[in-house]
Amino acid sequence: MNETKSIDVVNMVNNFINEEKRQNMKTELIFLGPPACGKGTQTTKLAEFMNLPHIDTGSLLRAEIKAETPAGIEAKKFIDKGNLVPVELVSRIIKNRLSNDDCKDGYILDGFPRSLEQAEQLTKINDEINGSTQVKFMAIYFDIDTNVLVERIVNRRSCSKCGEIYNLAFKAPQHEGICDKCGGELTQRKDDTREIAQSRFDTYEHETAPLIDYYKNKGVLKSIDANGTIDEVWERLLQVIK
Ligand code: AMP
Repeated sequence: MNETKSIDVVNMVNNFINEEKRQNMKTELIFLGPPACGKGTQTTKLAEFMNLPHIDTGSLLRAEIKAETPAGIEAKKFIDKGNLVPVELVSRIIKNRLSNDDCKDGYILDGFPRSLEQAEQLTKINDEINGSTQVKFMAIYFDIDTNVLVERIVNRRSCSKCGEIYNLAFKAPQHEGICDKCGGELTQRKDDTREIAQSRFDTYEHETAPLIDYYKNKGVLKSIDANGTIDEVWERLLQVIK
């Protein structure tokens, strides 16, 4: 990456963040894209950079499953098949999470909405929480060549302790099965198999992809080319945020 260009973009994004803070504006960013398009890696990094909470519905649901809550037990039936969890269940979890005090300046939302019905729920939830607060809302679409994604999924591992994401094909850990960052054990998600991945892609095509036009028609969609390295995609992401 060109160092000078990168510093310019970082400065521009910092100006954007400061300006929003000065105007008391809330920043709400949502992300669209097929499974394993790299949203998780980029949005985690972006949340840290913008000092906003990273809210990822997949992880919230997996935490419910681990804790064996009624919501988790219900959600598991759908996740294990690669289907969407019922809208009422996921909307309730999201509403609780977005009502937290740490979301008062905004949020980075990864994995919600995933259907037109959920998009309408999100508008309702935001309206209820925000009242008269000024909001900058953006939907960022990760446009990617889907042929590479099944291989990405089956090679994906994540740290059971800190959540860091690895890929055995292009971002392998230094020691097999161990997280470079915290030494935690690396595990594979149960739905990261070839068969369930296919079902997740079908769900994406039917339920989630229509949101691209939905947000385009509202004039809030930004698309980025999500092919390439983590650094290349990061640079493009900063370009659309600024
Ligand atoms: P992810 O970690 O984003 O790949 O999500 C894993 C799984 O969690 C998905 O395949 C769905 O079964 C479920 N899930 C995540 N987000 C949602 C959502 N917004 N609505 C319904 N189900 C979801």
